[in-house]
Amino acid sequence: MQRTESRRLTIAHLYPDAMDLYGDIGNLLALRRRCNWRGIATDVIEVRVGDAVHLHGVDLVLMGGGQDTAQSYVAEDLLRRGPELRDLIDGGAAALVVCGGFQLFGTTYAMATGETLAGIGVFDARTRAGSRRLIGNIAIEASLKRDGAAHAQPPLRLVGFENHSGVTHLGPGTRPLGSVVRGAGNLGDGTVEGAVYRNAIGTYLHGPLLPKNPRLADHLIVCALAHRYGEVEPLSSLDDVLEMDAHRVAIARCDDGLVAETSPRMAG
Ligand code: GLN
Repeated sequence: MQRTESRRLTIAHLYPDAMDLYGDIGNLLALRRRCNWRGIATDVIEVRVGDAVHLHGVDLVLMGGGQDTAQSYVAEDLLRRGPELRDLIDGGAAALVVCGGFQLFGTTYAMATGETLAGIGVFDARTRAGSRRLIGNIAIEASLKRDGAAHAQPPLRLVGFENHSGVTHLGPGTRPLGSVVRGAGNLGDGTVEGAVYRNAIGTYLHGPLLPKNPRLADHLIVCALAHRYGEVEPLSSLDDVLEMDAHRVAIARCDDGLVAETSPRMAG
């Protein structure tokens, strides 16, 4: 067992300039702060289109959401990095990719224009633009398990905000992140949400997600530490009073129900 103090993690933040909707950058801030409070240093590699950076040694990959135009802008560059990213994730690195990022970590995204973007295939998941825009607060029940760990964690409720027209079908190689309690989810029908492959998580939940779902943030940190150092001790607990207040308020808002509009309001 390794102690988590005086450890460090490397985080790759993909396309922070193009893929950042609804404060997705807050996921990075929450991870860094929660690491910092525990004496775990973090190095961040920002990856932009055309950058000559290598991702070797990255423990945790983050990518936020974006409209179709932003997805089209980054898709080719992401494809070029696909083998390196898949190798990282197959090697146990953690990842959190949100909405437009989730779609591009799948196999294909067929846009409303008729054009199809190829994804990097971390998830066996194909997405097509649907006719409804699915907007609203969403709560799901997820069961997290670090790849290789003996047991899953007890089920936990995650809360966020979704705004997508994409409808995502998972293939047999990928399991959903959770089941929808309130909201639309992958298929727009309130059944399943997100995707998990090894320690990579794809989800439609913006928010930002991690500040108000601290257990998910800590799960990603544990996965990243295990990737870097092997088995790790449980993380020291933090005072999450504010985080859990935010969580409860967001859950309460879900009871207002999902607004599923019939016509797209945002250009993808
Ligand atoms: N363009 C995608 C969709 O609408 C993703 C949007 C997002 O990232 N919020 O399905």
